[in-house]
Amino acid sequence: MTTISLLLSPAQIEFLRKLYADSPIVTSVPYSLFQVIEEDCRITVYASHKTVFQGKNAEEHAALFQAGAITQTVVKTSAKLPKKTATTSLSSLVFPQAGSDEVGTGDYFGPVVVCACITTQKDADEFGSLNITDSKKMTDTAILEVAPKLMAALSYSLLVVDNDKYNEVHLKHNMNAIKAILHNQAYVHLKKKAGQLPALCVVDQFSPAPNYFRYLEGEAEIERNLHFETKAESKYFSVACASVIARYTFLKSFHAMEEHYSFSFPKGAGTHVDEAAVEFVKKFGKNKLCHVAKIHFKNTEKVENLNK
Ligand code: MN
Repeated sequence: MTTISLLLSPAQIEFLRKLYADSPIVTSVPYSLFQVIEEDCRITVYASHKTVFQGKNAEEHAALFQAGAITQTVVKTSAKLPKKTATTSLSSLVFPQAGSDEVGTGDYFGPVVVCACITTQKDADEFGSLNITDSKKMTDTAILEVAPKLMAALSYSLLVVDNDKYNEVHLKHNMNAIKAILHNQAYVHLKKKAGQLPALCVVDQFSPAPNYFRYLEGEAEIERNLHFETKAESKYFSVACASVIARYTFLKSFHAMEEHYSFSFPKGAGTHVDEAAVEFVKKFGKNKLCHVAKIHFKNTEKVENLNK
């Protein structure tokens, strides 16, 4: 079997795409723009424009592109084509990796927090024993203990949208649009902080990629090299860490809010939250609610008939 790696120009990639327009295309290969599946060759075009021809007739397929390629390497082995493996388990082991996640979007009270962070193999080894996973599956005590260690070690960026700001922004954007804008900003900041982003940047998917990018129309800077995956907090170490840092920040800010009002705010958005909203309005007045709650939530209906 032969493996030929070429660094192609954008024009060559365009040509390749047209040439194989009628062949089966796979877009789930990590870091790839697309992969063409031919009987005798598999062609993977990576986001970096590195293009790998692999299979018994790789040379034939690559020949059309070799002359114009920017760089090239040819490796001949007797190995068979690698079996198609679950891309999730494979790519989750790739380091360095960046991940992003948000918290607070399901809580009536308190801010929305988004974090993006970069993790290396060393971080994964060092913190592997701390049982870091989706922050929803960790206790507050565990979060409070683990998060400061991660924040001391990792490059991360953090965005906290307090309730005033959130309520103002929500007049113009729906929740998913707000999330998209925040995740994007988190990556833009992280890139500035760290110098560059890893090849693998995973967003805990809340909206399909085309919608995500549609929400970002009009943003000054847009990070596009992102991999979207649902439940990524339990699959990718970087997303789990982002989730933990975000949750920690949410808890801190929640605590400060409770101190400020000497009031115990429940989490979530259930009926117990309705009751707390009513109690809060009775104590502090309806006009204070926009400082502590996401007022477009249904919970607000319960206080609408109170006179204050
Ligand atoms: Mn999430």
